[in-house]
Amino acid sequence: MTQREQRDLSELIAGNRAWAEAMSRGKPDFFPALARQQAPRYFWIGCSDSRVPANEIVGLPPGEMFVHRNVANVVVHTDLNCLSVLQYAVDVLRVGHVIVCGHYGCGGVQAAWRRKPLGLIDNWLRHVQDIAARHGDQLDALPDERAQLDRLCELNVVEQASHVCRTTIVQDAWQRRQPLVVHAWVYGLRDGHIHDLGFAAAGADEVHPAHAKAVAPPAAAATT
Ligand code: ZN
Repeated sequence: MTQREQRDLSELIAGNRAWAEAMSRGKPDFFPALARQQAPRYFWIGCSDSRVPANEIVGLPPGEMFVHRNVANVVVHTDLNCLSVLQYAVDVLRVGHVIVCGHYGCGGVQAAWRRKPLGLIDNWLRHVQDIAARHGDQLDALPDERAQLDRLCELNVVEQASHVCRTTIVQDAWQRRQPLVVHAWVYGLRDGHIHDLGFAAAGADEVHPAHAKAVAPPAAAATT
């Protein structure tokens, strides 16, 4: 390791110590209480992007949110990693809300839209391309690429949230009447604000109407 690399890591450890001390100063029991158990009420599925740190942008301290992140916040029906985290969140932690949160300016969504070859990840981003293809007419009707990318970020979140709803994990939870709501949100890098995309499903019969409303072209949605 070079001196520069050593210094980079030392900064992280020093930053950690300062943070831990500040947390303990404010609440001496904070770490001992967390070490005993976690009881988060929210499960967050978000993008790996370094600008979208899940807890921080909603102002929650450690212990309040269970998190899974991958490039472009994709929920694939056979992704055992994502499904295992979801299953643990729903069956063991019994979270009350699953929030799929994408973000405008997502590099993964942009690469998928532009079909830019980046390597292995192209295969992962095919899932986002499938969504672009599904909503091709709506996206083609938009005036410019920025509008198309923003809308694809939104549509991707709604589709991924509906994938969450269709997993056996969520379907089984609803079947046994466990309270669980699935949401679709998008975060704006430019102003730090989260927007609710109008998709919220609290039961199997709510998924289709919530999905249909949230993927409708914005103009059509406004007139209904
Ligand atoms: Zn992203």
